[in-house]
Amino acid sequence: MKAAEFKDWIKSIERMSRGQRDKLRERLERKAGADTIIELIEQGQNDERICPYCQGTKLYRWGKASELQRYRCRHCNHTFNALTGTALARLRHKDKWFDYEQAMVQGVSVRKAAVSCGVTTNTSFKWRHRFLRTPALHQSPKMNGIVEADEMYFLESFKGQHHLPRAARKRGGKAAKRGTSKEQIPVLVVRDRHGETDDCILHDTSAEQIGTVLIPLLSKDVILCTDGMPAYRQITRNARIVHRPVNLAAGQRVINDVYHIQNVNAYGSRLRQWMARFHGVATRYLASYLGWHRMIDRLGQNVTPTLCFLMSLGKTRQFQQLITT
Ligand SMILES: [Zn+2]
Repeated sequence: MKAAEFKDWIKSIERMSRGQRDKLRERLERKAGADTIIELIEQGQNDERICPYCQGTKLYRWGKASELQRYRCRHCNHTFNALTGTALARLRHKDKWFDYEQAMVQGVSVRKAAVSCGVTTNTSFKWRHRFLRTPALHQSPKMNGIVEADEMYFLESFKGQHHLPRAARKRGGKAAKRGTSKEQIPVLVVRDRHGETDDCILHDTSAEQIGTVLIPLLSKDVILCTDGMPAYRQITRNARIVHRPVNLAAGQRVINDVYHIQNVNAYGSRLRQWMARFHGVATRYLASYLGWHRMIDRLGQNVTPTLCFLMSLGKTRQFQQLITT
């Protein structure tokens, strides 16, 4: 827009009704969100941008499409933009992504997110799982010092599936059942005293299965606190890890004032409370929801759409820089 034209346009604000100004403000806010999204996608990669097809580093600028800079690789001739090869590649309506990430921060259902962002429920569903793909895969650094581990259970759910694959989930040995006929999905929650947290879906609660998931999360010389389930005794003995089992059944909660599993249990309660709003999560999406909650919980009061979007983009370095400054 030319400067004179813009000046006239600004003057016309005076003649607008209150309702018109409200509408304008809404449009500008939405546009600001879209600008932020584009900035975050393009940011900090110019000197390190490589071809996602051949990892070549000699690139031409190749015009713009969907507001993003396109590049062409001199080696393989492919064209791409900053989203190519990420979980968010080829998704449309970038002007609504900031609002969508806001809905993710608030932790609302697929349907509510669709209404608040003005997209269809199908789009909202698709976006949810694309936006969560990277956070769900993100692994915490190795745990240090005193580490607490405990299992929790989620009711198996085939929500949203028309053909119930009831016979399908019988791999990995014994099914985990706890007193009910309904299948319970075990999740191992591990947390150290620095707040690093991981939670993983288990096939079962055998020592072999828990050990496979747990041991890679631990640094050397950790002290592991558990509820003393025999599997943990076996794992810690085999891996030569110091184990401090708390005998909850005997009313013991803390050993020597420091060894307990109250942090991991508190995390579990927060997770369960947060999950309740979704009225049951389909088991096949459970890992995504666990990753989502880890992200929200980790950021605590500092959670913003910008930070969550950086995680969705897989820009973990920029994410780390922002949360440590
Ligand atoms: Zn290339």
